[in-house]
Amino acid sequence: GSMPRQFFVGGNFKMNPVTQEQKRTLVKVLNEATIDPAVEVVIAPPALYIFPLKDILRKDIKVAAQNCYFKLSGAFTGEISPSQLVDAEIPYVILGHSERRTLFHESSDLVAQKTRAALDAGLSIILCVGETLEEREAGKTAEIVESQLKPVVGVLKEADWRFVPAEYGFSDSFTKYHVPPCSKIVIAYEPVWAIGTGKVATSAQAQQAHADIRSFLSTAVSAAVAENTRIIYGGSVNAGNCKELGNQKDVDGFLVGGASLKPEFVDIINAKK
Ligand code: PGA
Repeated sequence: GSMPRQFFVGGNFKMNPVTQEQKRTLVKVLNEATIDPAVEVVIAPPALYIFPLKDILRKDIKVAAQNCYFKLSGAFTGEISPSQLVDAEIPYVILGHSERRTLFHESSDLVAQKTRAALDAGLSIILCVGETLEEREAGKTAEIVESQLKPVVGVLKEADWRFVPAEYGFSDSFTKYHVPPCSKIVIAYEPVWAIGTGKVATSAQAQQAHADIRSFLSTAVSAAVAENTRIIYGGSVNAGNCKELGNQKDVDGFLVGGASLKPEFVDIINAKK
């Protein structure tokens, strides 16, 4: 029998908000909201705000980082170490976001290296993949997404995808935040043409891409990992389109950019209610 996958909603604040006042308004909205307790909610603020947010935010919303490096410490100006995030009791890091891949030239191999390091340090990963419009129109969506996933699969063992108990050497801060069963890697399917454009994928397009990712995992990793891994959709998700997307069989939640900065983020969290 398969275990139900817990619905997951992430808010990717990107390089927003830019004032303390906007940050306080956002926190107030979230802290006062009625949130479906069945949903795992994670927000990823700019690194600068991780600590204040952790302190002032309700405890049933987790705080994540938007990126990290693959080295644990040293002379890497401007970078954040996976170990620092674990020490700060941050359970998740977003890796491979399309803006990192495009604007900061992160290759799928680098993303894989970061994934390996982050898992070793005790973090869970929100791993982003997705095709450009040109690639979709050329019928290459599945091929591109697989090419982004393959280097990650290549550096992981089957067990790396699953809940790994403390005897595997994972830190207390990891086990404190992760109750089995859970997958340690959440895959975010984010078509590049849908990110920040207001042009959301249709529920059929999302379902197809998610089913293809699950089938790839089944072949490349294992049937159990394919069944247990949350695959979430990102790209212009809003209060109006989240219900239909969230009802697709292989859509296990969302990664939300623009709308995560607005009160409607609460409606997206509650999409399944
Ligand atoms: P968007 O961003 O919701 O603003 O399209 C999604 C993302 O980049 O994760």
